[in-house]
Amino acid sequence: MKEFDLIGRYFAGGGHQRKDVLVGIGDDCAVTTVAENQHLAITTDTLVGGIHFFESAPAKSVAYKAVAVNLSDLAAMGAEPAWISLSLSLPKIDENWLADFAEGLYELTRYYSVQLIGGDTVHGPMAMTITAQGFIPPENALKRSTAKPGDWIYVTGTLGDAGAGLGILSGEIETTAQNRDYLVNRHYFPTPRVAVGTALRRTASSCIDISDGLLADLGHILKASGCGATVHVDRLPLSRQLTECLGEGKAREFALTAGDDYELAFTVNEEQRGHLETSLSSTNVKATCIGQITGHSGKLELKLEDAPYPMPSKSGFEHEF
Ligand code: ADP
Ligand code: MG
Repeated sequence: MKEFDLIGRYFAGGGHQRKDVLVGIGDDCAVTTVAENQHLAITTDTLVGGIHFFESAPAKSVAYKAVAVNLSDLAAMGAEPAWISLSLSLPKIDENWLADFAEGLYELTRYYSVQLIGGDTVHGPMAMTITAQGFIPPENALKRSTAKPGDWIYVTGTLGDAGAGLGILSGEIETTAQNRDYLVNRHYFPTPRVAVGTALRRTASSCIDISDGLLADLGHILKASGCGATVHVDRLPLSRQLTECLGEGKAREFALTAGDDYELAFTVNEEQRGHLETSLSSTNVKATCIGQITGHSGKLELKLEDAPYPMPSKSGFEHEF
């Protein structure tokens, strides 16, 4: 296993270096200082080759996505990311793969001023676990459990693109080369909405990131908050590429049910609604109002121009809770 020991060194010293890291890669533990008056948010996600990503996927995208899904969890809580650690399991040492992997990892961590502070490397099936840590001022965490009837529901960016990208890669969807590039890129390189998350700290009443599809993830907010919701499918933000590729009906279905977009879904009460535009102005990210929280616990209604719209069969939304 000697060569696997080299990997820690492979990642050492690269990427962004933070002042709050006293001991980084190379010792038995990382040691950091923790800012006073900040709470620590911690999240872990694992990606397994052949299950969460194609083993033939570009190594750069694999690393990018592994980091992005963790930063997305921090964003969904309103946390500012600081450190990640990486546990990497690989079937063999492939220097080119590792170089591309490191490039993807460092591209994202540099952009968000995050430092890789340690990890582990083992010989095994291709898989990686990343733990990400970040800061939130006390009382500012954006939770799932605090939506209230009457709050407005918003989502960032556009929905369904990553799901279509996956369909294209697996040969189930055909489209033009340009749409393919766009959609596959959204699948490989999701954008964690970090700046939106921190900007929403005092504005949103609840928040979640969309990893399993809008209906499934909004369902988590409804369950945790004991509420229901009405979602207007004609207000769902769809990219031109998705609509061109799938047509409007299918594009809406993807926006409701497909996962992996890593956009944020959040709620804002009537009083805060006026502040939303100002809060998000510095982020360059568009948020779209798609509906409203209701008092009917567990009931998620879809509407198209105010008429009832059928729930897609693969909604991922649990009706009974
Ligand atoms: P130990 O046996 O003490 O766990 P390792 O040989 O596993 O030490 O790791 C040596 C150093 O390299 C540690 O600081 C560890 O955090 C780091 N490291 C190992 N693998 C990785 C990795 N995949 N990514 C980042 N750091 C790693
Ligand atoms: Mg180790």
